[in-house]
Amino acid sequence: MSKQVLKEGRLVIPGIGIVEADVAMENGKITAIGQGLSGDEEIAVAGKYVLPGLIDPHIHLGIFGDLAEEMEKETASALRGGITTVGVFMGGPKPYRSYFMDVMDLADARAATDVFFHLAIMTPEQQSEIPFYAQELGITSFKLYMSGIPGLIPDVDDGFMLQTLEIVAGLGEKAIACVHAENPHLIRVATERVRARGGETLADWADTHPNAAEEDAVRRAAYLNGLAGSRLYLVHISTAESVRALAELKPRYPKLFAETTSPYLSIDKFSSLGLVAHMVPPFRDPASVEALWQGLTTGLLDTVGTDNVTLTLDLKGAAKGIWGAMPGYPAVGTSLPVMLNYGVNGRDFDLVRLAEVMSKNPAKIYGLYPRKGTIAPGSDADLVVVDLDEVKTVRHEELGSRADFSLYDGQNLKGWPVLTIKGGRVVVKDGQMVAEASGRFLKRSL
Ligand SMILES: [Zn+2]
Repeated sequence: MSKQVLKEGRLVIPGIGIVEADVAMENGKITAIGQGLSGDEEIAVAGKYVLPGLIDPHIHLGIFGDLAEEMEKETASALRGGITTVGVFMGGPKPYRSYFMDVMDLADARAATDVFFHLAIMTPEQQSEIPFYAQELGITSFKLYMSGIPGLIPDVDDGFMLQTLEIVAGLGEKAIACVHAENPHLIRVATERVRARGGETLADWADTHPNAAEEDAVRRAAYLNGLAGSRLYLVHISTAESVRALAELKPRYPKLFAETTSPYLSIDKFSSLGLVAHMVPPFRDPASVEALWQGLTTGLLDTVGTDNVTLTLDLKGAAKGIWGAMPGYPAVGTSLPVMLNYGVNGRDFDLVRLAEVMSKNPAKIYGLYPRKGTIAPGSDADLVVVDLDEVKTVRHEELGSRADFSLYDGQNLKGWPVLTIKGGRVVVKDGQMVAEASGRFLKRSL
């Protein structure tokens, strides 16, 4: 395989800063960083910023569509948006031992990005198989829903949760528990009240999942996790209250990590999107949006994912009202431009910090660093080149997803990826796939 050199980019290197240099790549790996490097093929990116390939640690595939089709299409959509690795949450009542090898094969065969998996632990049988998943399948992250999705995912109680956290702790420092932190009892009471008053808007929906339900569960998860001694990752934190709680909890619990999502950082409950933005947890008050940005800046929040669920408008069913609409939305293809528009360009959010929360931190937390998450010799040659000044209107048709809408349709966003390099090859240029990309299942070790 030939030697590629990315010329004169402004490399955004987490922990180091911005360095103007060339990057040499061979056999899918970065081989050198320096001045005046030459190769068989040179890619000129003078003046543009180059980030390590981004990791979306939180997406879902195959919930409402065919898993094989989404494995191919939604990962390709991710790649167009500068994301070169995805963490896929998988769930279901069946023990994963019985079928998950096939899912891993599917990732090898069809995914455009690299893929790692998190497994939802919902039953005692799955709980007892956790060591098998970690030791034999190379899957080291496990999800618990303190509050599930009615009809789809059951809640786990605190006892089941503590037992699971203890099993994860027993696997050592590389395994981690992921928790959807909301208190289902507070949600039930709040939901009854909103029903009684005839609530029907996106803001009413927010009231069914009060901010307090998230804060309470965040505190309880951190406490139980402290008892168990495992590492804990709180998914999709959405409220100012949780960020404030993290300020108290993180100094006490050093193994606690927290994620928010690019939609929570850009949309609030007063959005004119209406019930197309129906979600669990819901979009919140504008003060929470600002608190999430603060939390990302100060380090209380560690990562940015999307919680991408691919849906069509028909399945979404916004016309069915707040009690009938389906939660979820596609977001993996717009995550980087949203972060560049609302963060780097809109709020002076630091670009090096963006590379941390969208690449280095998820890589470290999930045991993929330094193969992923940085620009350094020996790391995978996954890179994304961004133009901070490019303004483009979002059209879902151009995102390459199976979904027939985007939350950002018609919006002008400033700051876009212009080149995605996966395994040393340019695979996306100006939003278009220019070469076939093939990703792999990333097996993790304990
Ligand atoms: Zn999710």
